[in-house]
Amino acid sequence: MSINNECCCGSKTEKPDQINGYCPVCNNEGISVSKVTVEHLVADDYRNAVDGDQYMICMNEDCDVIYYNLDKEIKFLKAQVRVPIWFKKDADPKYACYCNKVTEDQVIEAVVKHGAKTVKEVNVITGAMRNSNCKEKNPLGVCCHKIIQEAIDKGLTMK
Ligand SMILES: [Zn+2]
Repeated sequence: MSINNECCCGSKTEKPDQINGYCPVCNNEGISVSKVTVEHLVADDYRNAVDGDQYMICMNEDCDVIYYNLDKEIKFLKAQVRVPIWFKKDADPKYACYCNKVTEDQVIEAVVKHGAKTVKEVNVITGAMRNSNCKEKNPLGVCCHKIIQEAIDKGLTMK
């Protein structure tokens, strides 16, 4: 996943680290996420269970595992996180911007009904990427710009 430099979270574009661990359940490759992100995304009941630093997120849409820490043998499942994870199957709603709770449907509507073509235009219409705090709100801890762009692309093909 490459991060566009037109980022909402300030100057630094944080690239997820190298793939270095496989999901303990589905055995697919995961992506590193920061512990801060995990702490903010798990439900209150599990916050104290976030131990260790090396967290990964399972990118397999069919797998119920969200975060895992191989050293500590900890894993957090779909039902243990606060928000639906957009790339997991049956995510509902499917957020494009987690900071402002803008859904993929809203982005598509901005494109199809209001003629938006760029992330900037979508943001004006939907209020996405305002007061961004992707590190604590986005499940990957990275900017939502790319997800919004993908939703725009989807919307453009529907026109
Ligand atoms: Zn998995």
